[in-house]
Amino acid sequence: MAADVIVAGLGAHGSAAAYHLAKRGTSVLGFDRFDRGHTLGSSGGLSRIIRLSYYEHPDYVPLLRRAWDLWRELEAESGERLLTQTGGVYAGRPDGELVPGALASARAHGLAHEVLDTKALRDRFPLFDWVDGWRGVLEPQAGWLAPERCIETHLRLAEREGADFRFAEPVERWESTFDGIRVYTRTGHYDAAHLVISAGAWTGRLAPSIAPELSVERNVLFWFEPKAEREAFARLPVYIVEDTDRFFYGFPYIEGQGVKVAGLHFGDAADPDTVDRTASPRDEERVREWLRRRLPLADGPRRDAKVCMYTNTPDSNFIIDILPEDSNVVVASACSGHGFKFSSVVGEILADLTLDGDTKHPIGFLAAERLG
Ligand SMILES: Cc1cc2nc3c(=O)[nH]c(=O)nc-3n(C[C@H](O)[C@H](O)[C@H](O)COP(=O)(O)OP(=O)(O)OC[C@H]3O[C@@H](n4cnc5c(N)ncnc54)[C@H](O)[C@@H]3O)c2cc1C
Repeated sequence: MAADVIVAGLGAHGSAAAYHLAKRGTSVLGFDRFDRGHTLGSSGGLSRIIRLSYYEHPDYVPLLRRAWDLWRELEAESGERLLTQTGGVYAGRPDGELVPGALASARAHGLAHEVLDTKALRDRFPLFDWVDGWRGVLEPQAGWLAPERCIETHLRLAEREGADFRFAEPVERWESTFDGIRVYTRTGHYDAAHLVISAGAWTGRLAPSIAPELSVERNVLFWFEPKAEREAFARLPVYIVEDTDRFFYGFPYIEGQGVKVAGLHFGDAADPDTVDRTASPRDEERVREWLRRRLPLADGPRRDAKVCMYTNTPDSNFIIDILPEDSNVVVASACSGHGFKFSSVVGEILADLTLDGDTKHPIGFLAAERLG
């Protein structure tokens, strides 16, 4: 056998899986479609929000607690700075999804938080043009991760434990064998006892049984130089705003980057092989229109832009599961635009599922079968 486990896709989840598997003494062979350090998948763009009062579903909170601890452990082990704690504010309509959802998670799990009325939002965050009647939830345990550094750190520490990685060598297909799986790439075939599929936006190509549930969406991140108040922007927490039309989110001013802002789910369907990787004037105007409305001083000169891809499920929850077609194959994907923060714990879960066929982590709500 070429290895105990083959990992197909070495982005956020695959790099973490390789790390946890290698640390448990398993031999790992990993493949990626692109060169090491590429930003052509779903993890490029220098920062990803991490937060605990999870409006999406309170069941994510135990996973987030473990993810947070694992990021800190990875920092200690590697000496890298991966997580910057800034606090987070989630604000908008009191009858929307964001504020009630964040509050429900905070209360259900006893997370530190403050509830802010419109006056408190205005007093604390005067850079925003808040709407009368809006409320906010402020949580101290939130911040941002440096995604490229997180992935490289997982890869580097996995290699230190003996993992072997091949870049610019996509897995073309795989099949079940008598005692495991066989993976085909352009250089030949490789046998292993287990396969982890963590191919991000390309997951449907390698996991046909879940492909009908996956849709890929193009999303564009922007960095702007504020017109004024750079210091005040640098003191902002990470934020999410549920506005009248959609969610927007952003980060404090980061030296060398500016302020990063994006909208959530504009609904632009994409094919990962042909996605338009250039930010258009329309992409930019959709974000600037919101800045003029809500955060006007951020509407300064554009510093950069980055096209990225979400892989969505119909209910916006992930799929982390053993594949029905072969119990030696596990898959983690469909992070529906919010999965990076979890990748440290997803790596641990993928290692559990691969080596033990089960995990102690509560992931029942992420099983593929919920989607039929
Ligand atoms: C614009 C944007 C903003 C986001 N913001 C946040 C945020 O603030 N917080 C948060 O938690 N999450 C956020 N997310 C979501 C998060 O970034 C993703 O859920 C996460 O990065 C997905 O990780 P992944 O491992 O599934 O995919 P990736 O990191 O893209 O990894 C997949 C890897 O598989 C490789 N691959 C593909 N096909 C093959 C093949 N056939 N063989 C071998 N390798 C292959 C690819 O090259 C790639 O390296 C955001 C996503 C986007 C796009």
